[in-house]
Formats: sequence, structure tokens, C-alpha cells
Amino acid sequence: MKRLKSIFVLAAAATLLASNAHAAKKVRWKLAMTWPSTLTPLADAPVKVAKLVKQMSGGNFIIQVHGKEKHKAALGILDMVKNGQYQMGHSASYYWKGKDIKTVFFTTVPFGMTAQEQYAWFYYGGGMELMKEVYDKFRVHSYPGGNTGVQMGGWFKKQINSLEDLQGLKMRIPGLAGEVFAKLGVNVTNIPAGELYTSLDRGTIDALEWVGPGMDIKMGFHKIAPYYYTGWHEPASEMHYLINKRAFKRLPDEYKTMLLTAMKAVTADMGYQNFAMSAKAWSEMKKVNLKIQVKTFPEPVLKAMKKATDEVLQGYAKNDPLFQKIYNSQQKFMEKARKWSEIGEFHYLQTSQAVKE
Ligand code: CA
Repeated sequence: MKRLKSIFVLAAAATLLASNAHAAKKVRWKLAMTWPSTLTPLADAPVKVAKLVKQMSGGNFIIQVHGKEKHKAALGILDMVKNGQYQMGHSASYYWKGKDIKTVFFTTVPFGMTAQEQYAWFYYGGGMELMKEVYDKFRVHSYPGGNTGVQMGGWFKKQINSLEDLQGLKMRIPGLAGEVFAKLGVNVTNIPAGELYTSLDRGTIDALEWVGPGMDIKMGFHKIAPYYYTGWHEPASEMHYLINKRAFKRLPDEYKTMLLTAMKAVTADMGYQNFAMSAKAWSEMKKVNLKIQVKTFPEPVLKAMKKATDEVLQGYAKNDPLFQKIYNSQQKFMEKARKWSEIGEFHYLQTSQAVKE
């Protein structure tokens, strides 16, 4: 009896030791983000993930977050994570468009899904599996990393009343939307963020798009351009986390769960934070510049943009079966999702507008 008891004690002690040894494994990772450390809310997300993971692991799993000012390679994140220089990255998938055009689907596409629709596609509509298919060859895992919601169409110094007004218009608008606008005669330029305000102020460019009120307000565009156009080109820009596959494999299982849980929670949180920031900023902007007018592109212009978008996307799909597969998946999912968005949220917004006194 006594012997049996001591075996139990020993076994219990061994289990305790083993679990302690396991949980106490010290892991130190580094994360590189595309943004400077001051760019709220994008740069806040990895810092929140690191904090949660540290707390959950009792201080044993540490992730050091480096902003652009430290690693000086804003658009080198995918390469740095792939080659193991950093175990993790935080960026936006469409920045890797030059390496693989299919990466754009995991950020946003013109006339695509809203953030809510897109999250439903990622998590419950096959999006995560398709993202894996694209990112496997880079030897990294990719996860959603927070959304800035519907982006505004941008700040314009002159009104756009017809397609002719787009001819020769000088505008900063990157990505697929830039390709679409170029097809419609816009002179698309890409200018570093730090020079945008001066370029717009001095007339080097006539228009630009950035994000939405929450992030635009710090750039000051509302002081120098009176027309704020509603969005079409980035309806749901999703950031993303990149994780080096070998580094992830070496993590103890409970650390993997901590990391995945923290990322998913913080990803949702960015949407809440950005929404609150935009609501506050929009009311402030209107006080600073009473002349701001919210405009929507005229219907013929929007229709031409939609047609050009379809042509650009179908052009890529022609030569790339996986592009076609992801395009079809998004279109099919959006068809159903949009019907629900329309009778649900959209209809409710119209209803509450109608009863407003
Ligand atoms: Ca943008």
C-alpha cells in the first residue's frame, strides 16, 4: 500500500515536472511589420498580440515587435519571414502582388466583399484554405491580421462629373485599383506617404486615396482638398500575419494555440478600433473644414470602373487556374453573402435613416 502510494506521488511529481518543463520553455521571436511603430491602428495589432502571448505563457513566449524604422524594409517582410530572419511579420497581402498576383484576394479587391462578408469567406467559406494554397510555396503560414473596413475613394481637388474628368487626372492610387484607373485614362502615380500632403497641396497630384477618416485625419488632406469621394476600390482591406513554417512547427502546442488565439482576437479588435477612430475623426474633420463635401462618382463612371475591374481580374484569371479558382470562390460566396447583407444590415440602415427626425 505504502509502495503504491509512493508510486502515485512520484507519478504526480513527474507529470508536474514535465508540464512545468514544457510550459516553461523559453521562446523568443521577432516580428517585423510594414508600418512605422506610430501608425495606429495597424501598428498596434502586433504589439497587442505580443502582450497577450507573453501573459498567457507566464512570460515565457516573448515576441519582439520591430517597426519599419528599425528594419528599414517595409516591403521586405515576406522575404524576411520566409528566410527566417524574422519568425513573424505583419503586413498586407496585396503588397506581394509582384511575386504572385493571387495575393491580392486576401486583402481586398475593387467592388469585392465588405469586411464582414470577407471574414465569413475566410473562416467559413473556404478562404483560409485558398490562402494556404497561395502561401505554401513561400514556406510561411498566413492569417488575417485586422481590417480597416470600407476605404474612402479618396480626396479630390476637383469634382468628377464624367469619364472625361478622369482623363489625365494625376492620382495616387496603388494596387489593382490603380490598374483599373489607368485603363480609364488616369495618370496613376505612386508617391511615398511622407510626400503626399505636399504633392496634393502643390498640385503635383490632383487626387489621392489613403484609408478613411480615422487614418486620413493625421495626414491633413481634409484641409486642402474639398471633395471626399465614397469608396469602391478597397471595400475591406485586410492586413495579414506571416509566420515562418519551421519556427511555428518548433513551438510547443500550447504556444501555438496561444498565438493563434491572440491573433484572431486582435484581428477582430482592429476593426472595432478603426471604426471608433473613423467615427470620431469624421466629426472632427467637418469642424476643421466646413467646405468638405462627400461625393459619390456618377453612375456612368462607376459602371466603367466596374467593367474595367472585371476585365483586369478576368485578364489575370485567363493565365492562372488558381487565380480563376479563388476568383470564382469569392464571387460565388459574395453573391449569397450580399443578399443577406442587403436584407439585413443594409435594409436596417435605410430603415433607421427613414425614421430619423
Ligand atoms: Ca488605400
